[in-house]
Amino acid sequence: MITTEQKTLSDRITSLAESQTIAMAKKARELAAKGVDVINLSFGEPDFQTPQYIKDAAKKAIDDGYTFYTPVAGYPDLRKAIVEKLRRDNGLEYGPENIVVSTGAKQSIANAVMCLVNPGDEVIIISPYWVSYEEVVKLAEGIPVPVKGPLENDFKITAQQLEEAITSNTKLVMYSSPCNPTGSVFTKDELAAFAAILEKHPQIHVIADEIYEYINFTGEHYSLARFESIKDRVITVNGFSKGYAMTGWRVGYIAAHKDIADACDKMQSQITSGTCSIAQKAAQAALEGGRESAEEMSASYLRRRDLVLGLMNDIPGIKTYVPQGAFYIFPDVSAFFGKSAGDIKIENSNDLAMYLLNDAHVSLVEGGAFGAPQCIRFSFAASDAKLIEALERIKASLAKLS
Ligand code: PMP
Ligand code: GLU
Repeated sequence: MITTEQKTLSDRITSLAESQTIAMAKKARELAAKGVDVINLSFGEPDFQTPQYIKDAAKKAIDDGYTFYTPVAGYPDLRKAIVEKLRRDNGLEYGPENIVVSTGAKQSIANAVMCLVNPGDEVIIISPYWVSYEEVVKLAEGIPVPVKGPLENDFKITAQQLEEAITSNTKLVMYSSPCNPTGSVFTKDELAAFAAILEKHPQIHVIADEIYEYINFTGEHYSLARFESIKDRVITVNGFSKGYAMTGWRVGYIAAHKDIADACDKMQSQITSGTCSIAQKAAQAALEGGRESAEEMSASYLRRRDLVLGLMNDIPGIKTYVPQGAFYIFPDVSAFFGKSAGDIKIENSNDLAMYLLNDAHVSLVEGGAFGAPQCIRFSFAASDAKLIEALERIKASLAKLS
C-alpha cells in the first residue's frame, strides 16, 4: 500500500490542485450514472457537434494514410493555414516557424510557461482567471500573482493595477480575452494601455489566450501581439476546441517569436511529440472552411446569454453583469453566504455549488477555482430547455436558504 510517509508521490503532484472544472463535471457524471437527472453547466464545452466538413476531412485523412508520427510542431500545411488565419483575422504577420501546434491549447499554455518561468519568477495572472493558469505556474515553481478586476468593471483590471503589480521579479503576464470564467473582452484601447506599460519592462512576456476569439459579442477581437513594440514578447494562444466545437480532437497552437516557438517544440518533443495526425488534418480543414460555422454557434451563445441573464435577474441575491464573449456567466453569489437550509450551512461558493448540485441537481463551478470566491460559474453552452429548467431549479433551491 502507498502511504504518505513513504513519499511515493512527488511534492510537485501532491501540491497540485485538481482541475475544478473537470472535478465538478466528474461529480455530475457520477450522479447521472446513479439515475439522477443532473443538468451539467460546469464543464466549459460547446454542446454542438463538430461541423460535418471537419469530420469528413478527418475520415479522409485516415483513408489517405495520415497514420504516422507527425512533426513535433505540426504539419507544415496546418502551420501555413494558421499563419493565413492570423493574417486574415488578426492582422498578425508570422511565418510557419513561429507556430507550434499542440495537443490542445492547455498544452500550448503549459509548454510556454515551462519554457519561460524559472523558480521564483513572478507571474501576474489577470483575475478572475482560468483554473489551470495558477496550477501550471506552480508546476514551473513560479509565483502566481493574481491581480483582480471587480465585477463593477466587468471584472477587468486597469493599466494602473497592472503597473502596480510589476516588480523586478515579474517574468510573465497571463490573461484570456474573451475571458473564461467572466466572458469579459479587453478592447483595443485597454490592450494599448497594457502595451504601453509592458514596453517599459523588456523582461516581461505575455501569454494572450485567445481561445474564445470566435465567441465574441462585441464585434471586435483585438490581439495584443498587434502592438509591434511588444510583439516579440507576446505568445498568442489559440485553438479549435471552442470556436469549432472540437474539444475532443485536442488541437491548439501558439504564435510566438521563433526562439520561444523553438523552445516549446523542444519541450513538446520530450513530452508528447506531435499532435494526432487525424486531428491536425481536421483542424486544417476547419480553418480552410472559414468562420461561418463558428459564427452560427456564436449567435446561439449570444441568444442563450440573454436568456440566462433574463432568468437570473429574476432571482433575488444573484448579482449579474453582461458577459461580452465566451459562454460563461460568473455572478456574485456572496449574498447567500451565511444562510442555511436545514442542517446545510452555506459558508462559501464551494458550499453553494455542492448544495445546488445535491438539491437542484445542477452542476456549476465554485468561483475560488478562478480566483474569485464570491462568485460561481455557469456555462450557458446548453440547450434553451436545459437552461430554463436549471434556472428554475436553482431559484427554488436558493429560495429555501434563509
Ligand atoms: N484556455 C482557456 C481560457 C480555456 O477555457 C480552455 C478550455 N479548456 C483552454 C485554454 C484549453 O483548451 P483546449 O486544451 O481544449 O484547447
Ligand atoms: N476550459 C473548459 C472549462 O473551463 C474545459 C475544462 C478544462 O479543460 O479545464 O471548463
